[in-house]
Amino acid sequence: MGYSKEVYTAVRSRLSQRRQSVHNIAENRRRQLYSDIPELEVLDREQLEAGATAAKAMLMPGADTEAILNELNNRNVEIDAARKEIFLECGIPTDYLEIPFYCPSCRDTGYVDGVMCECMKKELKAEAYKRLNALSPLTLSGFEQFKLEYYSDQPDASKVVPRVKMLEIYNYCVKYANTFSLQSPSILMLGSAGLGKTHLSLSIAAKAIDKGYGVVYGSAQNLLRSVEVEHFSKDSDESNSLASLLECDLLIMDDLGTEFQTAFTSSAVYNIVNTRMLTGRPTIISTNLTFDLMKKAYSEKVVSRLAGSYSMLRFVGSDIRDILRRERQGT
Ligand SMILES: [Zn+2]
Repeated sequence: MGYSKEVYTAVRSRLSQRRQSVHNIAENRRRQLYSDIPELEVLDREQLEAGATAAKAMLMPGADTEAILNELNNRNVEIDAARKEIFLECGIPTDYLEIPFYCPSCRDTGYVDGVMCECMKKELKAEAYKRLNALSPLTLSGFEQFKLEYYSDQPDASKVVPRVKMLEIYNYCVKYANTFSLQSPSILMLGSAGLGKTHLSLSIAAKAIDKGYGVVYGSAQNLLRSVEVEHFSKDSDESNSLASLLECDLLIMDDLGTEFQTAFTSSAVYNIVNTRMLTGRPTIISTNLTFDLMKKAYSEKVVSRLAGSYSMLRFVGSDIRDILRRERQGT
């Protein structure tokens, strides 16, 4: 997956800060140990000097290299043993002065033998998602803040009691979030604005992120705009936003249909829905549109994919934003 220059730059600078900080930790520990146990500094200095003396001796004409190296080796073994004894006596862990790398395989450089380390791949992915998610103006909300009492307990015209129906949907979402895995089904949340679709889908996002999944969430408008901008911008040859939307563990696209619709967005929506369906990646889409309007806005193909493979949640009730507004005004 290709990422933008900014994503690489951010990750490289994070790795470099990490290297710096772990080196500092090791250096501070060494200094502290030297001041607490001066013999350690003496031993370290002796070891350095022994090495330097041996190197010099080997340069002398007619030097017996093997004998010199043997002697050096013996001296090093003695010093290591003396040091080990001090560590043991003082109860210091044997690896205490080693650099505590976040990732020992690449020593926080991001590369092992010129090949990108898994830790760097993970960082790049997380950084790309973070940038996409920053577009969402909503902070992550939790299930605890979801209030069923905002939904009427009286049957509506079609004899559905909104509070009962919404309890069912709420329970479904809580269970979905708690048991979320890459095998989870996709969800289509239907219903008019202000019925809590965004709240519940973001609650699922928060849980999935907690579990360590790569989640991209945002309004269809923002997500599709960043795909479009990248697609038409000259400096990026690969669209990394689109790749993130196609490849993340869980994609949550909120308010489908409110974006500015063009031939580009329509085909992007199809591509996203279709690709994620074919690769079996869970997706949550919410929309105020009816199936008929979706057919008009996108295509029959998109609607048939959604109807065929998504679990459908139909939100009911009256706009809770009005209730919230009235509550705030104290009327
Ligand atoms: Zn690594």
